[in-house]
Amino acid sequence: MKGTTIFWFRQDLRLKDNPALSAAILNGETIPLFILDDETPKEWRLGAASRWWLHHSLISLDNSLNGNLWIERGDPEKILTRMLKQTDAKSVHWNRCYEPWQIARDKKIKTTLTNLGSSVESHKGCLLWEPWTTLKKDDTPYKVFTPFYKNGLSTQPSPNEPLSVPSINKLIECPMPKDKISALKLLPEQDWAESIGKDWVPGETSAHAKLDKFLTHGIHKYQEGRNIPERSSVSRLSPHLKFGEISPNFVTWHVVKASRSTQIDKSEAEHFIRELIWREFSYSLLYYFPTITNQNFKTNFTKFPWRRDEKALKLWQEGKTGYPIVDAGMRELWATGYMHNRVRMIVASFLTKNLMLHWIQGARWFWDCLLDADLASNSCSWQWVAGTGADAAPYFRIFNPVTQSQKFDPNGTYIKKFLPELASVPNKYIHDPSNAPEGELLRAGVKLGVQYPLAILDLKETRTRALEAYKGMSSA
Ligand SMILES: Cc1cc2nc3c(=O)[nH]c(=O)nc-3n(C[C@H](O)[C@H](O)[C@H](O)COP(=O)(O)OP(=O)(O)OC[C@H]3O[C@@H](n4cnc5c(N)ncnc54)[C@H](O)[C@@H]3O)c2cc1C
Repeated sequence: MKGTTIFWFRQDLRLKDNPALSAAILNGETIPLFILDDETPKEWRLGAASRWWLHHSLISLDNSLNGNLWIERGDPEKILTRMLKQTDAKSVHWNRCYEPWQIARDKKIKTTLTNLGSSVESHKGCLLWEPWTTLKKDDTPYKVFTPFYKNGLSTQPSPNEPLSVPSINKLIECPMPKDKISALKLLPEQDWAESIGKDWVPGETSAHAKLDKFLTHGIHKYQEGRNIPERSSVSRLSPHLKFGEISPNFVTWHVVKASRSTQIDKSEAEHFIRELIWREFSYSLLYYFPTITNQNFKTNFTKFPWRRDEKALKLWQEGKTGYPIVDAGMRELWATGYMHNRVRMIVASFLTKNLMLHWIQGARWFWDCLLDADLASNSCSWQWVAGTGADAAPYFRIFNPVTQSQKFDPNGTYIKKFLPELASVPNKYIHDPSNAPEGELLRAGVKLGVQYPLAILDLKETRTRALEAYKGMSSA
């Protein structure tokens, strides 16, 4: 196997528009390798939902490679070292990852492999704008989204025409047994995974189908529709992007192309790309402020009197707060591994402001339950809602779950989908059953505390408590 190249799949489980894979195959005979990295810091090991996704995504990838995906588990440095020696490979290619622990790991691996005489080439395949290309004129990172976005639009290159699928004839046959993916034991034992499976098909083919569907339907009303949880106006590409089954370059290139051909409205396309750039902004923040995952970005929040209340946390997690929009969101998360963005903001505000629990407790629950759990977007979004983050919503902006629900789910369609016990409650009362006349609820088959919980807190009181706690804190 002289002259062999190893291509290491990481957050890029795709064949199309995969710069490192194309470069590796151009080099010659290639071993396509995936390593389940057990050395990941414990707190950021893949959550249960992500593991479910990964299992299925690897199966899909292996099928696209005619069963030739090599699978390993353990410390990537040791595994790559062993493989270099066994195969006499002379080069290793990968697409760059940007989580702080991955950057440190990859630097170390690069040194080790280079010392062993191998070349190591890393490529850009997971972001549109790499963090070191997005600095301000004074060489400091942006902390505010809009200038980051505007500057990027005017200075960053346009998306490239996506690379096509490279020839897979040059792959080295995988000697591993057929159960190589199930041997990773990624699937959770709970039957919970069955319900998630009804809503999603992991893998590159499904990611492309999702994009096509979105460009044909959802994007036409994206700006307005992205706030309405019952509508299918969002792309639902997030888990596919997270695992790199589709590249942000591919998505953006196709959106721009469609908007140039007038297939879609320019302003809808711009709005959608703006959201994709929030992902880039989150990565830039994570790169320059790596403690954003577990420390308040605004340091004055260090002294904020977060409460500890395990009982309330559990009720929030289980969707039993008595506020239907919050509960529907939390049950959507449990049932499908996803939650609509508007509802993510509402439930996060409820946790950090009405319950005054630390945003890290919410971020950790999301990390375990979200199929799209992404260290950059999750940490930055939680800090954004909590008011502790960069360019964050001010702490005093507290979402009222009842008025949010009335505005964004006026007929309670989303609520009823995930809280079927409220299906017969009239629209007028669906947003705040605890303040509805008892008779109306009984007529709809609901006794509070039996079929559906009584509200666990008073919105006005908890709002005042949160504002009091916030008062007097110096600004960062
Ligand atoms: C508390 C909280 C936690 C979140 N955690 C995550 C997370 O772990 N992973 C994650 O991918 N997103 C997270 N988000 C951002 C956002 O909710 C999701 O990206 C979005 O709902 C995914 O659905 P979609 O693909 O249909 O989005 P679309 O509206 O179709 O947007 C397209 C893509 O743009 C990106 N995007 C959109 N909004 C944001 C945003 N606010 N921040 C960063 N990227 C964005 C995503 O990659 C998304 O797939 C979080 C938001 C909140 C408020």
